[in-house]
Amino acid sequence: MPDTPARSIANPLASLLKRRFDLPDEDATLAFGGRFALALAHIKRTLGERFPGLQVQLIGDLGAGKTTLVRATLRALGHAGRVRSPTYTLVEPYSLATDLGPLDVYHFDLYRFVDPAEWADAGFREYFDTGAICLVEWPQKAGGLLGVPDLEFTLEPEGEGRVLIARAFSETGKTCLESC
Ligand code: ADP
Ligand code: MG
Repeated sequence: MPDTPARSIANPLASLLKRRFDLPDEDATLAFGGRFALALAHIKRTLGERFPGLQVQLIGDLGAGKTTLVRATLRALGHAGRVRSPTYTLVEPYSLATDLGPLDVYHFDLYRFVDPAEWADAGFREYFDTGAICLVEWPQKAGGLLGVPDLEFTLEPEGEGRVLIARAFSETGKTCLESC
């Protein structure tokens, strides 16, 4: 299947797996978040101590549904409190106590970055590669400094709903996407 030449697809690399999900309404997005959380839990259970963490880049215009998807994922992972959009704080951390043990999730929103160098200045690099799940809205604002993600989710409007194009760039991401 050829890659969609959509302008919003930021990563030019060939993916290991690409899947399309039709999300005709918000409930469909919430349901996808639930399946994604289950997939994350499954891979963490399978890999145990070897779970390397996961970077997910969320692409899409304002209102595309990126935060909605993150909120659904966090809820399904057992987070009971509020999920604020990190528009001003840039990152919101979550320490979840899951059945599988502690799980750190970091929700980034880089929309307000004026210069990609802010990524390094903010010290965000240290959040990655620590076994945490990093969900990043507006990764383009870091100008490639994030490197290649495990997964890229692109959300675009379609009628009243959305379509999600998911691409995996690592084996961990591929395994996760296969069970969504
Ligand atoms: P973003 O973080 O991409 O700027 P938000 O998640 O904050 O977007 O807002 C998305 C808006 O679209 C919310 O009002 C939400 O209710 C709505 N929405 C989310 N998913 C869908 C969907 N699949 N179909 C229709 N509306 C949706
Ligand atoms: Mg948002």
